[in-house]
Amino acid sequence: MIEYENLGKLNRPFFDEYKKSFETVLDSGWYILGNQVAEFEKEFAAFCGVKYCVGVANGLEALTISLKAFDFPAGSEVIVPSNTYIATILAIVNANLKPVLVEPEITTYNIDVSKIENAITSKTKAIMPVHLYGRMANMPAIIEIAKKYNLKIVEDAAQAHNASINGKKVGSWGEFTAFSFYPTKNLGALGDAGAITTDNEELYNKVKALRNYGSNIKYHNEYIGENSRLSEVQASFLRIKLKKLEEITCHKEKLADIYYSMLSGTDFILPAKLEGYRHVYHIFNIRSKRRDELKSFLLENGVKTEIHYPVAPNRQLAMKGILDNFETPIAEEIHNTTLSLPISYFHTEQDIEQVCDVLRKFNNK
Ligand SMILES: *Cc1c(COP(=O)(O)O)cnc(C)c1O
Repeated sequence: MIEYENLGKLNRPFFDEYKKSFETVLDSGWYILGNQVAEFEKEFAAFCGVKYCVGVANGLEALTISLKAFDFPAGSEVIVPSNTYIATILAIVNANLKPVLVEPEITTYNIDVSKIENAITSKTKAIMPVHLYGRMANMPAIIEIAKKYNLKIVEDAAQAHNASINGKKVGSWGEFTAFSFYPTKNLGALGDAGAITTDNEELYNKVKALRNYGSNIKYHNEYIGENSRLSEVQASFLRIKLKKLEEITCHKEKLADIYYSMLSGTDFILPAKLEGYRHVYHIFNIRSKRRDELKSFLLENGVKTEIHYPVAPNRQLAMKGILDNFETPIAEEIHNTTLSLPISYFHTEQDIEQVCDVLRKFNNK
């Protein structure tokens, strides 16, 4: 059986270092907002090519706190792609703002920049691009639009650590970039964790306070904050994995190359290749009209897959009364046809060749 993901296997190469660093943290007696978090923040900011990083509890909080930092009037509109993971939209709703859906491109699965201006109203305050599956949205175009209409940009990079456009890394483009270090992500911790990056000192000081009761000086509370701190233990694990992130990314690129070469000439629709964009393949998806049949066939032949995502945000029960007014045929098409193939750090080239053999068998039958 070829698994879709196995977090034990994925982390095994790091076990010895994890154990040592766990002991270091244990011995230090300092478990919240200590040296490990401070060092990780410095190292991750440097990795992204940005001045500041603030560790938080998870990716959803990274998104929510970023939005809250602007103090937009309640009910202000935020533009977001219609095919994103629910967390991006929950962050908008949790910050008392109104999500406005814009359809993605069917080729890249990222927000269609040609449709953004039509969605802008006098209430629009921000754009939230989502770098879905590990490829960045068209940030140069989004920045142009944001400048023209005086909008802020909060990026959802939960799936895109180490992605870049023409060598400029994710995390260094908009006002804020939100990251998740959920264990399955390309840079994954061993529990919940997240971070926000920014180049703006004032915004940095604000989100740093917001994650910690709205306080930058102990027992002095400047803002209505929350408790959303990154744990010392998780930060120490993340420092170890960050050193291997480039290697993890290269491994995934190698596996993706096998999919591209062995699946060329089949009926499956592969992710479009874009000049200048580094796709980090948090997810390698293909699309097929016979997706459900294909998923069963793969399972019968020993290959586990996933669907990201089976239900569009505006079809979710929780979004009743919030996203009712949006027609999203392109998102629907993606949700109905997409299938995520195995592409973990622990998979070998032989594993992926085996997956491709089964896919080709299906294609020819
Ligand atoms: C994982 C993910 C999140 C949320 O991250 P958590 O750490 O689970 O809160 C947000 N957006 C996207 C696109 C994600 O994939």
